[in-house]
Amino acid sequence: MSKNSSNIMALAPNTSNKRETVCIFGTGDFGRALGHKMIQAGYPVVFGSRSTQTSSLIPKDAEVLSHAEAAQKAAIIIIAIQRQHYNFLTSLAEILHGKVLVDVSNNLKINQYPESNAEYLAQLVPGAKVVKAFNTVSAWALQSGTLDASRQVFVCGDDMEAKQMVMDIVRALGLTPLDQGSLLAAQEIENYPLRLFPMWKFPILLSLGLAAFFFFYCLTRDVIYPYVYENKNFLFFIAISIPNRICPILALILLALVYLPGVLAAIIQLYRGTKSRRFPDWLDKWMLCRKQLGLVALAFASLHVLYTLVIPIRLFVRWRISSRIISQALNNKTEPLNNTNAWLSDSYLALGILGFFLFVLLGITSLPSVSNNVNWREFRFVQSKLGYLTLILCTAHTLVYGGNRFLSPSSYRWYLPNAYMLSLIVPCIVLVVKFVLIFPCLDKPLTRIRQGWERNPQHSE
Ligand code: NAP
Repeated sequence: MSKNSSNIMALAPNTSNKRETVCIFGTGDFGRALGHKMIQAGYPVVFGSRSTQTSSLIPKDAEVLSHAEAAQKAAIIIIAIQRQHYNFLTSLAEILHGKVLVDVSNNLKINQYPESNAEYLAQLVPGAKVVKAFNTVSAWALQSGTLDASRQVFVCGDDMEAKQMVMDIVRALGLTPLDQGSLLAAQEIENYPLRLFPMWKFPILLSLGLAAFFFFYCLTRDVIYPYVYENKNFLFFIAISIPNRICPILALILLALVYLPGVLAAIIQLYRGTKSRRFPDWLDKWMLCRKQLGLVALAFASLHVLYTLVIPIRLFVRWRISSRIISQALNNKTEPLNNTNAWLSDSYLALGILGFFLFVLLGITSLPSVSNNVNWREFRFVQSKLGYLTLILCTAHTLVYGGNRFLSPSSYRWYLPNAYMLSLIVPCIVLVVKFVLIFPCLDKPLTRIRQGWERNPQHSE
């Protein structure tokens, strides 16, 4: 009983109102913002500064002392100073001995220095316990209270007790500490705020490349060809018609590219007979950005929906319909309803609507706030089963759109097939290979491999 109650005591938050004094070196933007937030949370704050004169910018409940005097007043010292000014800390080594030094610094470039700023600080003041924290939170966010985007505070350090003390402060400020391990992790934590959408680079570059290719492809087929052969000027197609061709093509190809790495990984695992060997680097990177690829695909699909909605109000479309009616009236001949075409048209639209609906559902479930509320099996069900169903529906939507135009010679201008035909290549490959992989003769060994079975255990790395 006493053992349990002591565990409960250890887990319970410190409910005492009395907070330990915290010292902050540096009265710059970040030091002041953090100091202000700490005072609000009930911490007595003392600043260590080169100048002991207080200014109106410094929180009025805080003391400003010399570095040495301020350091003596607290067990935790937050170093809110740029790394290049750390040298003066060596002269305070004796006072800082045994204290917890919190390194909050960031750099201007990724891997700017051979060692992280926190490790550098630990070298300068070897007797102190250095903890890295707060560098991913901005002074502006602390001041304005708009912390929605960056509530997470990565914390690392070699001394568990020191790290725990810093994490308690982080929690008291209403932030979420994330323990990243020892001080070795500091380099990565310092690089984190300097990254520019690392997972989005490949999907965005790929979609820009594909968009450029399909733009010139459609321009050649739909604008230059009629101009050369029929002297028709369809340059205005670049405003709506061509984007409305490119968007669904990109959406379909990118969606297929979300599922292609999974299929390739399955083939590699079957070939190797083990799951314990690493995939090639390019495949690893590709797998890691599947969510971003899917979201870019969804963005193109949404644009396609918008472009499609304006079709009836386009002047060109209204002109084409009215001239067809006038020509029927002049020839005193009405075109009977072609039932097959009506079926094809309605099925094509229905498949598109259902495909887009599932696409949106996939996008919503990939949002962290939603995916955090489903278990692993539910997440896999949505992303894999519903994902493949979306791919099937969208591919069918494109196939039915093609209808019997695939074989018509007029679909080939300068031997170039219609652009949507090209968009079917990757999705069809993915679906056919996936279909083959679900045959029991392949699915069973693959499942066993994924459960840890190895064909040649001695060859695995
Ligand atoms: P800052 O406004 O330039 O303030 C830096 C402070 O360092 C100065 O106010 C000064 O304080 C002190 N200082 C400057 N030169 C010094 C020297 N030679 N010797 C001793 N102290 C010196 O910078 P900041 O924006 O507050 O950033 C401080 C640290 O927090 C940096 O390492 C930065 O990477 C990190 N950080 C900043 C933010 C942010 O949003 N600003 C976010 C995360 C992390 P005294 O005049 O009081 O001595």
